[in-house]
Amino acid sequence: MTEAGTAPVTSICPAPRVRVQAMKEYHPPLGSRDLLRLDFNENTFACSPKVREVLGSISAGSLTRYPEREPVEAIVATHLGLAADQVALTNGVDEAIHVLFEAFLEASDELLLPVPTYTMYEVYASATDARVVAVQSADDLQFPFERLLAAITPKTKVIAIANPNSPSGSVATPEQLLQIAHRAPHAVLFVDEAYFHFHGETVMGLVGAIPNLIVARTFSKAYGLAGLRLGLLAGPVDLMRWVRRVLSPYSVNSLALACLPSALEDEAYLAWYVDEVLAARAVFEAALDQAKIRRWPSSANFVLVDIGSQHAEFVRLMRASGVLVRDRSNDPGCEGRVRITIGTREQMQQAIVALNQAVTKLNLGAQAK
Ligand code: PMP
Repeated sequence: MTEAGTAPVTSICPAPRVRVQAMKEYHPPLGSRDLLRLDFNENTFACSPKVREVLGSISAGSLTRYPEREPVEAIVATHLGLAADQVALTNGVDEAIHVLFEAFLEASDELLLPVPTYTMYEVYASATDARVVAVQSADDLQFPFERLLAAITPKTKVIAIANPNSPSGSVATPEQLLQIAHRAPHAVLFVDEAYFHFHGETVMGLVGAIPNLIVARTFSKAYGLAGLRLGLLAGPVDLMRWVRRVLSPYSVNSLALACLPSALEDEAYLAWYVDEVLAARAVFEAALDQAKIRRWPSSANFVLVDIGSQHAEFVRLMRASGVLVRDRSNDPGCEGRVRITIGTREQMQQAIVALNQAVTKLNLGAQAK
């Protein structure tokens, strides 16, 4: 011993699982974000005022109790037209992904993943013994349907599809998803509808009817509750049973549970926010076209743009103008691409000013053919 409590350098340190040692570190840039937040696809404005009211009415005494999830799960299930045992609330969709992979993926299994896609699928998969089989999209970043079908094997255990996808904004059609479910009856088809409200199309209505379909939704995006950490999984009872074995009964906190019914009830607020974002997206896309910045069509509250080799400088210039955007250059097939969240029309005016300044400074539009 050197000093009391400090171990010598040579001491044996407990090793984590080999899988965990091999995991890549993932630190999303969550620091210093008191600017216009067009970097994480959150709601950029506020949650419903009705939710705010509920938060204000929470008593000190009520916080002393452990949260009870089931009554709120029943409310959410009714809202979705499902039975209560088909729905599990989670601590954000991130926990849903974690729990789903823990429940279904083991050694010799394959996780099929169209890429580029949401980073956390690969992060949580890498903590399991399963193999990730990535199916690369073409340059148009459309959903690689045929290639995905061709990649299904008897070992495929989970197929994870974000719909709409991030960072591309592209979508799979319900018909394509149905075909995939049908072609891989031995696998869970996990459809992550985090951005559903900006797209409008869903396979939630097929939950229960398709025996291998599990759908996720989040309250972090359109509902504006990212800070409360609230998501859900919906699927047939025979699959949800296993999800519930792994899911902590305590992981959704009581503030989130208290707020959820009001968030669901205030449909007018949700509709207002979604309409605002869709209108702002059209304005922003027009500005991108005018600046001759290549963009991919988006069905979500963000747009992926091609900045090219000056991507890091672009992100830095935008930040200097008070606008946070997200460099996606490290995503497969996304070199030079930056994802920009869409906020309100007023916020996007600020973004357009910043964009045009950066474009001029970096001489970007002139490089476009
Ligand atoms: N799925 C997708 C496709 C996402 O883009 C995100 C958020 N970045 C999530 C899930 C995470 O959602 P939550 O905040 O509910 O964990």
